[in-house]
Amino acid sequence: MTGGYELQRTEAKGEGVFATRSFQVGETVMVGVIDCELDHNHAHASQVGEKRFVLHGGLITKVNHSCDPNCGIHLNGAGAHDYVARQLITAGQEITFDYAMRNYSIEHFAAHCQCGSPRCRDRITGWKDLPAERKADYHGLVAPYLTAIDDQSATQQADLGQPPRCHQGIQHHPRQPRTDDLSDAVQRLDHLRARRPRQPDPPLSNGDTRALGGTTSNAAHRPPPAPGC
Ligand SMILES: [Zn+2]
Repeated sequence: MTGGYELQRTEAKGEGVFATRSFQVGETVMVGVIDCELDHNHAHASQVGEKRFVLHGGLITKVNHSCDPNCGIHLNGAGAHDYVARQLITAGQEITFDYAMRNYSIEHFAAHCQCGSPRCRDRITGWKDLPAERKADYHGLVAPYLTAIDDQSATQQADLGQPPRCHQGIQHHPRQPRTDDLSDAVQRLDHLRARRPRQPDPPLSNGDTRALGGTTSNAAHRPPPAPGC
């Protein structure tokens, strides 16, 4: 299917591609054609394999990102990306897709997303940073190599007998002392102090934390804050 869309200017995002007729769910909206192969990723590259990047030809390169897109991706026989409607698209609507449907990681869009969707995640992230429920929403409408990477990773974890990553840190945390443990320790310390003459404390050296109650910082063991998306 060709036609049914045109390039227009948008208010906030520069150019965009708009439907000139309606498209039903599952209908191919735009047919992808590979213009040339690239040897690296960049802002206009389409990732079609784990380490393979291409430049699509035609207006498909002008389709803007949305965090709640009306199109998904199908790999066509030529290895290019077709855009397929995942929602009913009416004439006059902008055609959009999610860059995370195509790229495993995104390093070229540092600015805040301007898609305007209520589901906007603020930062344009790649597949590896997409929340699990969004991955499920996009099922069957993303570049196949992305789900292949996830499947491969899950298989490797299962082979190693490792629990899901989010549980590993919890297993290695030392047991926190209970209140009754602490009160027993205080009682034992008081008993020892009563039996032996008090020795003056040696001077504190730089970095000695005993003056702060012997605090050993847990900060170094905490994961870094989650990215703001
Ligand atoms: Zn957004």
